Amino acid sequence: MESMRDMPGKPQIDTSTSNQSKNGVQEELLQQWELVANHLRAEIGEASFQSWLRPMTVRGMENGIVTISVPTRFMRDWAAAHYQERMTELWRAENNSLQGIEVVVHSAPSTETTDAPAKRGTVASAETRRDQHKDDLSAPLDGRFTFDQFVVGKPNEFAYAAARRVAEADSVPFNPLFLYGGVGLGKTHLMHAIAGHIRQSQPERTVIYMSAEKFMYRFVSALREQNTVDFKQQFRSVDVLMIDDVQFIAGKDSTQEEFFHTFNALVDQGRQIVISADKSPSDLEGMEERLVSRLNCGLVADIHATTYELRLGILQSKAHKLGTEMPPKVLEFLAHKITANVRELEGALNRVVAHSQLVGRDISLETTQDVLRDLLRANDRRVTIEEIQKQVASHFNVRISDMHSARRARSVARPRQVAMYLAKQLTSRSLPEIGRKFGGRDHTTVMHAVRKVEELREHDTTFNEDVELLRRMLEG
Ligand code: ADP
Ligand code: MG
Repeated sequence: MESMRDMPGKPQIDTSTSNQSKNGVQEELLQQWELVANHLRAEIGEASFQSWLRPMTVRGMENGIVTISVPTRFMRDWAAAHYQERMTELWRAENNSLQGIEVVVHSAPSTETTDAPAKRGTVASAETRRDQHKDDLSAPLDGRFTFDQFVVGKPNEFAYAAARRVAEADSVPFNPLFLYGGVGLGKTHLMHAIAGHIRQSQPERTVIYMSAEKFMYRFVSALREQNTVDFKQQFRSVDVLMIDDVQFIAGKDSTQEEFFHTFNALVDQGRQIVISADKSPSDLEGMEERLVSRLNCGLVADIHATTYELRLGILQSKAHKLGTEMPPKVLEFLAHKITANVRELEGALNRVVAHSQLVGRDISLETTQDVLRDLLRANDRRVTIEEIQKQVASHFNVRISDMHSARRARSVARPRQVAMYLAKQLTSRSLPEIGRKFGGRDHTTVMHAVRKVEELREHDTTFNEDVELLRRMLEG
């Protein structure tokens, strides 16, 4: 059981096909497929991966053509239209004898779509079972995603307040509520919190929560099974419809069309709609104008990137819930370093805690750095000279253009030197390269700046702390 959790999406390979290929070849194919699949997974995200790639089975390779099978014709067409090209490209990078990929439908009896047991729990077989129950229609909610567990700070307070408002109202305060923000910033968490809260406090209201991808999948299945009347009825009789990651249906015209009609029907009946996306309605590409304007009609709430304070707050709250003793220094360190999003932050914390429990040692800054070495290094690599200039300028309250200017006043020259010093410390750029980025200065100027800053750090505590703070922020 444990191993299934560890590898929720391990792609399959059919080792039973004993075509002329030897086992070694098959083994190699398996490895290549794993690499390709993992690559794609990072590109298309976990949900799409689970829906479309997970059910694929590699059959073998013949004359440079790899054959992959999927459970249904629909999936075959979908895979061909959306993933085949990229898959071929990625696979060719692993194996240059590959000529192409062929996607075929499992040669199983045609009853598979109606009553296949949910073996392996593939999306395809589970999805095509027709269920009349609205509870089944909704995706399960994650019990941890509640309002209580959501740490509120400047970047998300507005979205949080809007979500609470929708959850606590017994009417429709604004329609739709449109939540948007980057990946891992808490959109799904807030959506689940709303759904959970309404289900608990107003059990008579029907709440459906699902991803836009699932919405589309259901719709297309209904089309295929000529079952669209049921589909429409199911959706149009709910009180609260929540669709997560709506950017997924951008560019998918018929799904958008259906969504638009569902949307209008529900709004006209005074039902609540909640939507999330990775961009604002107007920034979503491939969305029809009339849909965009409807999405803009309600309340649009943006979840901004995390700040240091919010990250620290989240870490404190999560550490407390884990019941682990975490030195404040470690939490501060993580809050400085892991800045991408909350998901990554949680992952880092969990790793540190798991490690300390496994080896039975207390958590310290050293063990933390050790355990997270790969993650931290990946973060380090991202620092650019432009970012350094920006951070330093804002820290010392000078203009970014002063980083390039010829002005020599101490008030701008010192920050510029600090930025050069940090560029030397944090990037792999050479002195001449750094000089060029600072208004075409000579490499000796950069060298002088580095020395000057080193000297000041030794003698001026406040200055030293400033630089250290900047360094840690940039490394984050
Ligand atoms: P999104 O849907 O925006 O990509 P999620 O809602 O899945 O992001 O959030 C990713 C993870 O981070 C989840 O485990 C979620 O509980 C957690 N998370 C995000 N924001 C917060 C927050 N403000 N407080 C507590 N946990 C959060
Ligand atoms: Mg999400």
